Amino acid sequence: MAVLDVLRMGHPLLRQPARELTPQEIESQELKQLIQDMVDTMHAHDGVGLAAPQIGQPIRLAIIELDPQNDRYDFNGDTALGVYINPKITVLDPETQTFWEGCLSVPGLRGAVARPRKVKVEYINLDGKSCVIEADDFLATVFQHEFDHLDGVLYIDRLADTRNLAYIEEFHQFWMDEAGDVEV
Ligand code: ZN
Repeated sequence: MAVLDVLRMGHPLLRQPARELTPQEIESQELKQLIQDMVDTMHAHDGVGLAAPQIGQPIRLAIIELDPQNDRYDFNGDTALGVYINPKITVLDPETQTFWEGCLSVPGLRGAVARPRKVKVEYINLDGKSCVIEADDFLATVFQHEFDHLDGVLYIDRLADTRNLAYIEEFHQFWMDEAGDVEV
């Protein structure tokens, strides 16, 4: 088990677009080890997602794991650990939904971000197979948050109103009842 350092806002690598992985890299043992380290790191920080740039790797790779037992999130879709290599995201429904988001790279804060409510994701999985998944509700937001990291974008860039940015303690005190709490 290896828990890696998570880069925080201000580190230039978080702002750099990541590159696609080659077929050789996707097959490699090094990538499988990196993914395992990312899973360990995500679990150690109680996150539901982690993108490779957050641990200093400028490659198009993200992992997401949602807890199906957590009824705060009313979502449909695959809730097991997902590994998303070279993902391409397409908006299927531009109508927006707003969730409070947190980020392991922006610790201590939560912000309400409006994003399209339904997306399609084409990606390569851990076995090197091409896959397609459609996601709506909270999972659609998580995909968009994670894949933004691959383009050097943080959720705070997407805040329509900076009044919807709060420290975690104040978020819990004043906003928690109507929102879940999650870091990705
Ligand atoms: Zn994040």
